[in-house]
Amino acid sequence: MKVVLDTSALFGMEQVPPGWEAFVTEGVLAELEKYNDRRAENLLPAIKVSQATTASLSKVKEAARGTGDSSRLSRTDMEVLALALELRAAVVTDDYSIQNLAAVLGVEFMPMSMKGITKVLRWNYLCTGCGKVFKEPQPDCPVCGSPLRTTRRR
Ligand SMILES: [Zn+2]
Repeated sequence: MKVVLDTSALFGMEQVPPGWEAFVTEGVLAELEKYNDRRAENLLPAIKVSQATTASLSKVKEAARGTGDSSRLSRTDMEVLALALELRAAVVTDDYSIQNLAAVLGVEFMPMSMKGITKVLRWNYLCTGCGKVFKEPQPDCPVCGSPLRTTRRR
């Protein structure tokens, strides 16, 4: 099954479920970088990065104007929808405006919170300096100040 993940879906996912061919847009990756978020870094090797064509993006923009979702959707949101439209993929998102517009466009969508799609987030944060492990995210190691790396909790 082909799916396009938005930023909220990436944040909520521990691993790409078996049988999924997962895509993200460059905009979603840019958002991850902007927030310096490491939660998704284990997922990224299993995910393809792609971009929608301007033609698909125009269709989405037009639909968003029609439903009044334009003001609630970022360019990244619209690109996610456009890519799903183009790939005939489902959108995985917890954003109601994206879900709403997906319905209008005839794009299948799934909330991340749907049972069976995802396991509850279980991450550890490992210090790259002193090796201490934290259960909660920290900007850097409170002990030695080194950057933390996300690891899957076992
Ligand atoms: Zn440390």
